[in-house]
Amino acid sequence: MNWQAIVENIENATGAAFKLINAKSLAGGDINSAYCLQGVDKSYFVKLNRAESVEMFASEAAGLTELAATSTVRTPSPVVHGISAANAFLVLEYIEFGSSSKTSDRLFGQQLALLHQQQQPYFGWHRDNTIGSTPQPNSSNGDWIEFWCTHRLQHQLQLAAAKGYGGRLQASGEQLCEKLTQFFDNYQPHPSLLHGDLWGGNAAIDKQGNPVIFDPACYYGDKQADLAMTELFGGFSQDFYATYRDTCPIDTGYTTRKKLYNLYHILNHLNLFGSGYLSQAENIISSLLSEIR
Ligand code: ADP
Repeated sequence: MNWQAIVENIENATGAAFKLINAKSLAGGDINSAYCLQGVDKSYFVKLNRAESVEMFASEAAGLTELAATSTVRTPSPVVHGISAANAFLVLEYIEFGSSSKTSDRLFGQQLALLHQQQQPYFGWHRDNTIGSTPQPNSSNGDWIEFWCTHRLQHQLQLAAAKGYGGRLQASGEQLCEKLTQFFDNYQPHPSLLHGDLWGGNAAIDKQGNPVIFDPACYYGDKQADLAMTELFGGFSQDFYATYRDTCPIDTGYTTRKKLYNLYHILNHLNLFGSGYLSQAENIISSLLSEIR
């Protein structure tokens, strides 16, 4: 990798000299390769992918900017993104992570609830983005059920069909889409700013004890969609949920709705990582269909 070109991009964006000492490869990303560019008194976090992925990085930078503007949960500041030779790159502020504590978890629940209080008049976002490397359409819509049906479930079902996961999954998925209104009896979602991909691997605590969220797939949607994902792969503590609930109370219908929301991520995992997720997706759909008329 020609790090000099990335260093020049950093220097042009920040207007400050940056002398690279070491480029350290980091583990943990599902989609991109990640590095810490260590300088004398400053470091940067860099993600690399193929040149075609530059729009993915542009939307990630836009998402981080949107989240930062709320002054709720800490996010790494975007520095610069672009293409260098065969690579798309995204440079962010490098944040050193520490360990979580009861206090930091409680703060995280409270800050996420405050993020979810940031609302706009319609569901969606001003631009499309990606979730993992899957395209995520965000066309604006005043109707959440229609948005979830078209831009989330049917979108992933169509991608799955194109990858050969048609048949039963498609038929039961369509059946579910026709009945979505039944999951929203006595519940009126509002368009809240969401992280959009909030599993434990996209959240951490910095050295000062502040929660940090990164790698977002932002849009404005039902806050319970973000909350549901925190429960999908574990990683969030009871202290986190306790303070979240203090600010954003959770209705009883959430228990079922959470399955509907996490179905999107399981379908996305099917599309990203393959058939290991097929039976899980089918089981969630069956379970949801069994709960309605
Ligand atoms: P991917 O897009 O490939 O999933 P992530 O954005 O999740 O990559 O980043 C990969 C890993 O790098 C994360 O799990 C996290 O540990 C670390 N990381 C992410 N952002 C930063 C940052 N700004 N500073 C330091 N480490 C980071």
